[in-house]
Amino acid sequence: MEMLQNQESHIILGVAVAVVAVAVAAYIFSSSSKKSKVCLDPETWKEFKLVKKVQLSHNVAKFTFSLPTPTSVLGLPIGQHISCRGKDSQGEEVIKPYTPTTLDSDVGHFELVIKMYPQGRMSHHFREMRVGDYMAVKGPKGRFKYQPNQVRAFGMLAGGSGITPMFQVARSILENPEDKTMVQLVYANVTEDDILLKEELDSMAAIYPDRFKIYYVLNQPPEGWVGGVGFVTQEMIKAHCPAPASDVKILRCGPPPMNKAMAAHLEGIGYASEMQFQF
Ligand SMILES: Cc1cc2nc3c(=O)[nH]c(=O)nc-3n(C[C@H](O)[C@H](O)[C@H](O)COP(=O)(O)OP(=O)(O)OC[C@H]3O[C@@H](n4cnc5c(N)ncnc54)[C@H](O)[C@@H]3O)c2cc1C
Repeated sequence: MEMLQNQESHIILGVAVAVVAVAVAAYIFSSSSKKSKVCLDPETWKEFKLVKKVQLSHNVAKFTFSLPTPTSVLGLPIGQHISCRGKDSQGEEVIKPYTPTTLDSDVGHFELVIKMYPQGRMSHHFREMRVGDYMAVKGPKGRFKYQPNQVRAFGMLAGGSGITPMFQVARSILENPEDKTMVQLVYANVTEDDILLKEELDSMAAIYPDRFKIYYVLNQPPEGWVGGVGFVTQEMIKAHCPAPASDVKILRCGPPPMNKAMAAHLEGIGYASEMQFQF
């Protein structure tokens, strides 16, 4: 009888030890996996492996980089960007800002859509990159941090590759059912072929017709073009962006001459400086 009781208490003790061990292991695993999930570090360059490179047009390619584990996230707040470090054609170090087209809801990898300019210093690095190469990345960077329902409406003035920060903000707004923000995008390019992420943008406008509107503007439009023609004018902004108001913000990102022209247009229409942000 005493022997049976001894055996029972040993079994109970054994089970208790096992339960505690499993709980401790689960805690250690969950806290370490939580830590390893966010990959970016604002102070340290981190290396990410290029796993896919898809040419989208003669000078644009989509670069997919893998994160350390399939559940890792980059850890980039909406509205912020990363710095990428590479070498130009002279072997000199070059660092430039880029905004991934993926969000932290896309786990295990991140994507960059890059427009490569013939004389561009970082463009050279991206052109030379091959699958299996590593890219040094640091971040998050940037003064703009988006919170859902922070404003009633965003107007967005984008030129060329300046679409990527807009795409990131618009995607996160539209994919969040709690976010009621209205988004109106004016997107300028030279030719129709230069329009980046067109398929994705058009599908967002088709899925969310009441919350997302796009007005494309081309310098060299094709025959039968129904969008804007020439450079973005004050009239186009008045017609296709929310009017100046304290709960409205206009975001700008494009080549420097366009940013300068847009700043003057916005001031002329009456958008106060706190109603504007340039990426
Ligand atoms: C917040 C932010 C996010 C960005 N995200 C992206 C992104 O996701 N994808 C992307 O491709 N770029 C993005 N850019 C632009 C990017 O940072 C570089 O400016 C771009 O890649 C060109 O760098 P480069 O070193 O190759 O060219 P540079 O050596 O700086 O420029 C060489 C020449 O290229 C031409 N050029 C350079 N930039 C432009 C331009 N924007 N428009 C027209 N001509 C230009 C000019 O003729 C210039 O003289 C972003 C910029 C900012 C500020």
